[in-house]
Amino acid sequence: MRNYKLIANWPEKKLTCFNCGTTKSVKYEMKNGKSACNLCVMTVACDKKDSVKKYKSNAQWPDCVAMGNAENTSTDDHYTEKEAESICKMLEKDGFGGDGLIFPIKTWVS
Ligand SMILES: [Zn+2]
Repeated sequence: MRNYKLIANWPEKKLTCFNCGTTKSVKYEMKNGKSACNLCVMTVACDKKDSVKKYKSNAQWPDCVAMGNAENTSTDDHYTEKEAESICKMLEKDGFGGDGLIFPIKTWVS
C-alpha cells in the first residue's frame, strides 16, 4: 500500500519538493497532489500520523493470565492488516510478553 507514485516525466515538470523545497530529484507525487523529492518521499510516506489504525490484532488467553475482560482477550491497533496478522503470528509463536510460557487460545484480525 503506497501513498505516493513515481512521476515518469519529472524532468519536464520542474517540480519543487513540498517538504524541503529542493528541485533536484523531485520525482514523486504524493496522494494529496503534492510533489516530493526522492529523500522526502520516504520520510513523508512513512509518517503515518494522518492514517488511521483500522486493523486490530486480537488474542484470547487462558485463565492463567488476566486481561481484565470477560473474554480474556487482548487487542492492539494497527495501520495494516499485515501488521495485525504479524502480531497474531508473533503471539502464537512467542506467547504472552514474548516469554514463550503462555500461549493464546486463539488469535484473529478484525
Ligand atoms: Zn524534499
